[in-house]
Amino acid sequence: MLSRSAILDILHESDESRIRDVYRRARLCKRRLVGNVVYLRGLIEFSNICVRNCLYCGIRRDLAQERYALSQDEIVGCAWYSARAGYGSVVLQSGERTDPAFVRYVERAVRRIKGLGPRPLGITLSCGEQSEETYRRWYAAGAHRYLLRIETSDAALFSRMHPADQIFERRMRCLETLQKIGFQTGTGVMIGMPGQTIEQLAEDILFFGRIDADMIGMGPYVAHSQTPIKDAELTFSASQRLELSLKMIAATRLHLGDVNIAAATALQSLHPMGREQAIRAGANIIMPNVTPHYVREQYQLYENKACIKEKAEQCRPCLDQRILSTGNRIGYHHWGDAPHALRAGR
Ligand code: SAH
Repeated sequence: MLSRSAILDILHESDESRIRDVYRRARLCKRRLVGNVVYLRGLIEFSNICVRNCLYCGIRRDLAQERYALSQDEIVGCAWYSARAGYGSVVLQSGERTDPAFVRYVERAVRRIKGLGPRPLGITLSCGEQSEETYRRWYAAGAHRYLLRIETSDAALFSRMHPADQIFERRMRCLETLQKIGFQTGTGVMIGMPGQTIEQLAEDILFFGRIDADMIGMGPYVAHSQTPIKDAELTFSASQRLELSLKMIAATRLHLGDVNIAAATALQSLHPMGREQAIRAGANIIMPNVTPHYVREQYQLYENKACIKEKAEQCRPCLDQRILSTGNRIGYHHWGDAPHALRAGR
């Protein structure tokens, strides 16, 4: 555990060699508590249809663009591909809908993926704010992890980034509900949003500890040119946001210990080696995109998203080489649950 002032010191650090030392400490902490292993999750971006209007997001409701929802067979095909490629888990991520047809559609997809033999895949869902009943149905269908970024733990900043009907307290309650149901629960924040301060980011890390998160996914804010906040002034340049993200990862590893921390794809939009740098700063999860290539361009949460022209098969050799270059093993075929979650019986 780190104190607030120790976290602030890390985030404010400007001396190159001291920053490298922080990354080294985070690497050692990772090796000791979760091993020098990177686990993979095939990321299936199964629909960009969304009823929410988050001010930063490239698939927000009001943005005119072609919308898609993959068929059950397409989703299962992506999962099947992931299993064959040795990715032990999949993440099903989408824009947000709460209508009964959507709830059934996700439930069926989870059931079918769970039924794929011979070695069942771990399933993570990332489909936003839902009712307790919906979360329970999806859990019963076989999803055992859920990712719901709080986006920022600062209620005032949250309200500036979302329309009035998207409420901070509701998102908090969703996280509590997910944990109550028994999901391994992941959260996270965007780093370098307009108006965000280092102090708020330090509070975010303390927040992760307070709610006892099992998994953390966080990455830099990257503007999308058609969102209402596209021209908002940024406090941090692209390279500062990258460095701040790496420091956030290192500080989170040192503060939380044996959780899973993802090297977010958004890091790669700021630097071609962004994800590898994150692994070297204490992250242990990578989510290769297995979304069919013909819809990838329609799932652009932010600009300059990496790999949108690639096909799923092109990822594996590229990733192998990238991960091995960081001195980590690859946990092929394993679910790769965080020891933190297993310890807590989740
Ligand atoms: N609708 C779901 C999941 C899809 S969005 C949900 O709300 O959980 C997944 C994540 O993408 C969001 O949590 C957000 O943190 C991130 N994201 C969205 N727009 C972004 C942007 N402009 N820059 C960086 N990350 C962004």
